[in-house]
Amino acid sequence: MGSFDERVADGLAAIRAGGRWRELRPSQLAQAGRIGRDGQGLIDFSSNDYLGLALHPRLAERAADWGHAYGTGAGASRLVTGTNAAHLAIEARVAAFKGTEAALLFASGWQANAAVIPALLAAAPGAAVFTDRLVHASIHAGLSGVRQHRFRHNDLAHLSELLDRHGAAAPARVILVESVYSMDGDRADLPALATLAAAHDAVLIVDEAHATGVLGPGGAGLCHGVPGIALVMGTFSKALGSFGAYVACSALLRDWLVNTCSGFIFTTAPPPPLLGAIDAALDLVPGMTAERTHLANLADRLRAGLAVRGFDTAGSTTQIVPAIIGTEADTLALSARLAGAGMLAAAIRPPTVPAGTSRLRIALRAGHDIADVDRLLEALG
Ligand code: PMP
Repeated sequence: MGSFDERVADGLAAIRAGGRWRELRPSQLAQAGRIGRDGQGLIDFSSNDYLGLALHPRLAERAADWGHAYGTGAGASRLVTGTNAAHLAIEARVAAFKGTEAALLFASGWQANAAVIPALLAAAPGAAVFTDRLVHASIHAGLSGVRQHRFRHNDLAHLSELLDRHGAAAPARVILVESVYSMDGDRADLPALATLAAAHDAVLIVDEAHATGVLGPGGAGLCHGVPGIALVMGTFSKALGSFGAYVACSALLRDWLVNTCSGFIFTTAPPPPLLGAIDAALDLVPGMTAERTHLANLADRLRAGLAVRGFDTAGSTTQIVPAIIGTEADTLALSARLAGAGMLAAAIRPPTVPAGTSRLRIALRAGHDIADVDRLLEALG
């Protein structure tokens, strides 16, 4: 029996031996879809700043303005003194943007899923839970200790079968999906899911992390206008250019979360500078139609070019375009080759994606131009 540190060192040695060692490397987002790394300017195909808002001066200015006006910290949790008028104003804006009755802010997307899901399940003890096989790690964090019925990715027939088999006798049914899958860039059929959920009297919860700002009317996401979705979670950390997350839902569910959700109640309220950045992003996003169209066109061009070169793009129909490679070693080698050619396209490996499906996850940014996509295709060819 070794000491705790020895056990940790053994664990790390096993990670290294398994080829899964990871480390942090400084990067700096730059304009025009670029990123700085190791003193080099690379074309960035890896970050999630889809609309280029993370470097938009309006967000930085309003973050500074609201920091000066309201302070850099909220000072307390929401239910004590942490609720500033700005929190309520942003929540009202988010609800209007998403087309829901209400919204509630959370510290991050990961934290929102980890906190909200157990709070919702507490309202229906014994609920049968159904998840798409590819849902994000943070949804699994929210389901820690909960038995999941996992359906094949985007396979509604399989979900229906599982609902029949495991849902009928349960006191409630909860279905968890994403509107855009983060590593495949494909979409869920939300109207069909909502119909299926209604037929089984199931609660449908959707993670819109990668759709928010990019897809749907005015960038409002794919849930907008689809009836029968109980709760939508999304982030401000990707297309909206800053940090933090929201859930958009009925006033009833918001009240439930305010009164029962540990990850809402016992954490300090989001800081005013962040709220300023979000406010500015919400001013800009609905009007960024040209950027959304440009992203869609770039993605079409990239997918067509990858298909010609024999790459599987896993059903992508969005700004996230995977090029499935297969083995971890091949994927790492290709990613390194691209870095040598001035492009950053991170290798995504198990456990983030299933074994044998290691890939380059190519994320497009509105700052890219056609020449950037063509350069990537050339390097991959
Ligand atoms: N859900 C999905 C589908 C995601 O891809 C991510 C980010 N990787 C999150 C939630 C977490 O969001 P955040 O980065 O704001 O914590």
